[in-house]
Amino acid sequence: MSPVGSAIRSDSDLGYGGGRMRIKPWVLPAAMLTGALLGLLIGASLGERWADPSVEPFVLFVRMLGVVFLSALKALIVPLVVTSIVVGVTGMGDLRRVGKAASATVVYFMTTTFLAVVTGIVLVSLINPGSHAVGNAAAAPVELAKAVAQTPARAIYDVITSMFPSNIIAAAADSNILGLIVFSVTIGIVLSLMGPAAKPLNDVIVAANDALLKLVRFLVWFAPLGILGLVADRIGKAGGGAVVWQELAGLGWYAATVMLGLLVHAFINLSALLVFIGRRRWWPYARGMVDALLTAFGTASSAATMAVTLQCVVENNKVARRAADLVIPLGTTVNMDGTALYEAVAVIFIAQSMGIELSFAQHLLIAVTATLAAVGAAAIPEAGLVTMVLVLGAVGLPAEGIGLLLSIDWILDRFRTTVNVWGDSIGAAIVDRMVPADDAAVPTNRY
Ligand code: ASP
Repeated sequence: MSPVGSAIRSDSDLGYGGGRMRIKPWVLPAAMLTGALLGLLIGASLGERWADPSVEPFVLFVRMLGVVFLSALKALIVPLVVTSIVVGVTGMGDLRRVGKAASATVVYFMTTTFLAVVTGIVLVSLINPGSHAVGNAAAAPVELAKAVAQTPARAIYDVITSMFPSNIIAAAADSNILGLIVFSVTIGIVLSLMGPAAKPLNDVIVAANDALLKLVRFLVWFAPLGILGLVADRIGKAGGGAVVWQELAGLGWYAATVMLGLLVHAFINLSALLVFIGRRRWWPYARGMVDALLTAFGTASSAATMAVTLQCVVENNKVARRAADLVIPLGTTVNMDGTALYEAVAVIFIAQSMGIELSFAQHLLIAVTATLAAVGAAAIPEAGLVTMVLVLGAVGLPAEGIGLLLSIDWILDRFRTTVNVWGDSIGAAIVDRMVPADDAAVPTNRY
């Protein structure tokens, strides 16, 4: 065995289970939850003084914990997307399987996103939170409105052109993940077609991917501190517990509608798909995803969470690499159930609070454009707020309506990002079941 191989004797040495450390599976999630709660406590109690020079060293220390953790996660995105997708495609073996997996993935993404939107529309129509709205609109976010595509045609154009970057290095630097995915799928297909001649390069990519996932397993142990830093800093910047509570209470009906919708979608719609189509038991699967779900909550970014999602899906939930490696990077970028649901609720809430009645056709238009806006949203904090301009424009509402929701968007963002990640993880289990293993494929389950 090589010196490197003998230094780390088994996969479980750095993780849970029967290795040298024998750490119980609940320790890390419990530590992450504690980190989130401590962050909440610190940010809420110190928030009023967050910008005060007397506490600056402490604030900077707390902020540093979050920034370093977030940067470490983000640094993994580009190499992980490229190697995972290539491993996923070559791991399928027969290229017809890639086609089958891709269609199953797209059908899953589209159906669940649409289901999320419909759930949101039904709830917001029944609850009618707009009738309780208090007029606390922030300044009109004109720059937000200008930042995005304002028509569905433009949004589709933007998504399709971003799939074909002219410079792959620039695509990586600009976080054009969709462009990287298309590039990597193409390389994966070419490697599959080359057969044995591609083996050396394949081996390198598989080993690189294995190494990155091992790194993630190490990194997640810093998540409790990272989450503490991120949560405390965000609440602190918002002004502390009293301010946040006041803002939340002002938009309480709206926030409650979004949260209820997210709960229904996560616990009923998606969970039913996991159990009945993915044929997985709910509790073990959910337990296996806890690290990723808490990281999503802490970072408010599915892209930053992607590495942990992949690790949880593959290692804790034993989803085959060929499915996870395709579905997770793609899902992170385009499948955002929580975002779609929230956009639909938010737009109808804005209409309700302005006293505007929407027709059935307009509801339908909201459903379609919210799905599109969620696909177009980047997997970063509060991206959904920006793409909402598209949905508002489609039904003739002013982009300034977003001002109503600005103050608490960062809170709801954390919950919808968690649902986005949960949806991706279930997609991986379903595609795994729909596209069984091909014995002739390049072996990829070494990790
Ligand atoms: N923050 C979300 C995500 O990364 C996107 C959004 O809804 O703003 O999944």
